[in-house]
Amino acid sequence: MPSLTRSEARERSALLQVTRMEVDLDLDQGEERFGSSTRITFSCNEPGASTFVDVKPAELRSMVLNGQSVDVTTLTDGRVALSGLAADNVLEVEAQMSYSRDGQGLHRAVDPADGEHYVYGHLFLDAGPRVFACFDQPDLKAPYAVTVAAPEAWTVLGNGAATKVAPGRWELAETKPLATYFVTVCAGPYASVLDEHDGIPLGIHARASLREALERGAPQMLEVTRASFDYYHQLFGIRYPFGEYHQVFVPEFNAGAMENPGCVTFRDVYVFRGAAARDEILTRSNTIAHEMAHMWFGDLVTMQWWDDLWLNESFAEYMSHRTLDAATEFGTEAWVDSTMARKAWGYAAERTPSTHPVAGSAALDAQSALQDFDGISYAKGAATLRQLIAHIGDDAFIAGVSAYLREHSFGNGTLADFMGFMERASGKDLGAWTQAWLLTAGVDVISLDRAAGAVDRTVPEAFPADRPHTFDVAGFSAGAETFRVPVTTSGDRTVVPELAAAPAADLVVPNAGDLTWATVTLDPDSIAAVPEQLALVPDPQARAVVWVSLIDGVCLGTVDPRVMVRTVGAAWPHEDNASILNRSAGSLLGRIIPTFLPHEEQGEAEQVVAAAAASVLAAAEPGSTRALVAARAVARTSADEELLRAWAAGERRPVGLEGDSDFGWIVVRNLASHGLAGRELIEATRERDDTLQGRLSALMAGASMPDTEAKAWAWGEITTNRERSNYELNALAQGFWSSGELDVLRPYAARYFSDVPAMSAWVGDDALARVAQLGFPSRVVEEATDDMARAALQRTDLTPAVRRGIVDARSELGEALRSRATFG
Ligand SMILES: [Zn+2]
Repeated sequence: MPSLTRSEARERSALLQVTRMEVDLDLDQGEERFGSSTRITFSCNEPGASTFVDVKPAELRSMVLNGQSVDVTTLTDGRVALSGLAADNVLEVEAQMSYSRDGQGLHRAVDPADGEHYVYGHLFLDAGPRVFACFDQPDLKAPYAVTVAAPEAWTVLGNGAATKVAPGRWELAETKPLATYFVTVCAGPYASVLDEHDGIPLGIHARASLREALERGAPQMLEVTRASFDYYHQLFGIRYPFGEYHQVFVPEFNAGAMENPGCVTFRDVYVFRGAAARDEILTRSNTIAHEMAHMWFGDLVTMQWWDDLWLNESFAEYMSHRTLDAATEFGTEAWVDSTMARKAWGYAAERTPSTHPVAGSAALDAQSALQDFDGISYAKGAATLRQLIAHIGDDAFIAGVSAYLREHSFGNGTLADFMGFMERASGKDLGAWTQAWLLTAGVDVISLDRAAGAVDRTVPEAFPADRPHTFDVAGFSAGAETFRVPVTTSGDRTVVPELAAAPAADLVVPNAGDLTWATVTLDPDSIAAVPEQLALVPDPQARAVVWVSLIDGVCLGTVDPRVMVRTVGAAWPHEDNASILNRSAGSLLGRIIPTFLPHEEQGEAEQVVAAAAASVLAAAEPGSTRALVAARAVARTSADEELLRAWAAGERRPVGLEGDSDFGWIVVRNLASHGLAGRELIEATRERDDTLQGRLSALMAGASMPDTEAKAWAWGEITTNRERSNYELNALAQGFWSSGELDVLRPYAARYFSDVPAMSAWVGDDALARVAQLGFPSRVVEEATDDMARAALQRTDLTPAVRRGIVDARSELGEALRSRATFG
């Protein structure tokens, strides 16, 4: 189906203003379809002109424009042409829509724990027409008046405050002007915790079967919610404009969360049903603060077109970490987490051929814009904003942001608008800065010449730009920080006299405070010192920078992956930062061991992690985050079958994990992937945990079994069973590639390139993008896999999501192949 192009959007917004949207949804028509009635009031600048409305129904029943019936059989590719427009128009559309299973449009899920049904709307990026007829583009905003019919036992939530006006009948308060992609309705027997802060009614909601976990987690979530509101009110000087503030944890959600004004949706694994590590609570808190930042930046002022997606995401990414630091118990841990979890993701995106400038990428149509929704738009964009603040000062930045938000309230903005406000607030010409940092792709390499006391910047050949960097360099010896020197680079070599005069240090870390965006190359002496010295470095932020530099170095082929294994063995047992513990082990176990090391070394390297984790588990305070992260790592890697069988049976488990189903599944998966657990154990475990999460875990464990039969079953479920939800596909794909001998796996490398692209016939691009990544044969690290990927990319029938998935996964495969060629 064609996707709206930028020129079509420009033409339509030049022609129309949408005055009001009235939408009535009937969610009481069974499990397959819902009724959708829309009344669009809009004006047209050129009476007599033509345009089109977007609608993607199961059945289009009627369409009436200004009292005249429109022929519904003219519906083509999700569009109906409207001709002979008047100055003032009313369009009425009656349709039957299909619920989705891929997380786009109005998604309907069944909770196996109690058989209850849940519905939520996710209209990002262009799924609005799957729910109601509309002019689906971000710069045609209108107030929405939404009414909903639903089964009597259901609760209905949406952008405006919901009122039950009759049994099974709900009215949502008319909203302020919203872009189509922000409209949502959540309906089902949701469990709720209600509160109020500073005059804003608050609600936190999740499936009824998660009520106990929701009530346990709600106080912490509400605390972050209140702190974030206070912080943004004080910072921007603009009150939250959208009435009530509901946070709904919904099943099978594709993204982390979505910033629908007044009704934010989150993936519901954030409602922790078992033990939660501190970094997991930090991540959830960060998501709460991120989505709330969008209420101003994204929702109140929206990008004009998808090419300025970064305006939303970079800003929210930066602001949420700032909020956690300034206004919550997490403090600077937020930035350490940003280094480990977010910037590592962005640097990975920067290494692929699909890298792009933060701003101003083409985004010729809506679907291709989705491809820029990555670590560049979030992590690099946020780092770039930190460099902007270092360049113009925080007061000017905040003054500029406030003025931008005020000036464009309930409207749209562009990169040029935003930078204009920054220039006026700072009195600086930011043209060259914008060109270098925002409009040019690529990442500079920062390294030190210790003897010369110089900082060297190497600019990527493919993307030359003169990016000034502001950061600090710190030295560490035997557990003490021996110096810290601020640096602002100018050109490719910056001589810093303080650096030459600094005392000797075993480990010298450029960008130690992680203020800039750069590939940090440690000097050879420092690399040699890392395994022994890293644990002694007192500053967790500097340790995180070293970890990410190692990961980057392994991927770029400058660091032997075995250095990473040795560092985990030596430094991990002494680490006390939750984000570093979790992410360093995750990166090693998830990618570096299974792809960079030769097959025959992988088992031994895993046992290095298992031993490090076992020593932490033995020493850590029972029930602490360190103990929890270590216990999970042991469960994932241990070869101690007796221990694993006891844990699987719920015996001898570490404190706090006694009844933890998710922990049990990690154990069962480990057994399954080594051929030590069959269908019976998986099935018995699922019977004890017959929940959405339990069923997904059972699928993943089943796909993790290494034998030929299990792999054939799993592959068939992924690529031919059209009933599988987005989450089920991900679980199966993840399990599939996590185990098995190469001889068993190899045939599926070829099948991936035919079977996965074909799934675009029934899986939406947002969901298929993840399948394309998770399903890629990344464990078959052979030239033949690369050849097949190259051939597949010659095809012209790949959807943008599948193409992007293959491009990125092939690039990662290339990193592993090159590393093996260098280091063996
Ligand atoms: Zn966001």
